[in-house]
Amino acid sequence: MTTQARADYIDRRLAELYPETPVPLDHRDAYTLLVAVLLSAQCTDKRVNTVTPQLWALADNPADMARVPVEKIQAVIRPCGLSPQKARAISGLSQIITEKHGGEVPRSFEELEALPGVGHKTASVVMAQAFGVPAFPVDTHIHRLAQRWRLTSGRNVVQTERDLKKLFPREHWNALHLRIIFYGREHCTARGCDGHRCEICTTLNG
Ligand code: SF4
Repeated sequence: MTTQARADYIDRRLAELYPETPVPLDHRDAYTLLVAVLLSAQCTDKRVNTVTPQLWALADNPADMARVPVEKIQAVIRPCGLSPQKARAISGLSQIITEKHGGEVPRSFEELEALPGVGHKTASVVMAQAFGVPAFPVDTHIHRLAQRWRLTSGRNVVQTERDLKKLFPREHWNALHLRIIFYGREHCTARGCDGHRCEICTTLNG
């Protein structure tokens, strides 16, 4: 199978397995999604979803959040880990969005990535899931599976993202990146796997 044929099979099969692609992080709008994605760094989505209701009770918009003392934010988000950095980032980005962007989350990669605590992956998730702009956020599941499925030889997420974008139609990116994450969470948790345990790898590897 060529790399493109493998990609076409994966695209088709994942769409059959996961026809629906609900956004895993609970949110109300672009701002609450941005904060939830930031909290999900090195933390499970499930845990983030248990913490965010308390955070939104404190403040669920940039102007209100900017007025909350950082220590208070930190106390609420502690279960997510890295709470000092994440609390400073949430406070800082809320101030910038309020003062510089009229209280609205900016809709460009450049402006999003200029916010504290927001890297390319976080910006990609927000562009895709809040604004519907095609993006391909590469997390550890996607990076690992893209290598296992021999879609990339990328040693880093930048190269993996570039290779995946070339292989899949742009209009599929937003659903497909979620489908790969769903598949990875469901199947690809085994360490030291020989690549013949689950359906897609078995099909691709013969
Ligand atoms: S066979 Fe399954 S567990 Fe093993 S690498 Fe492939 S997807 Fe992951």
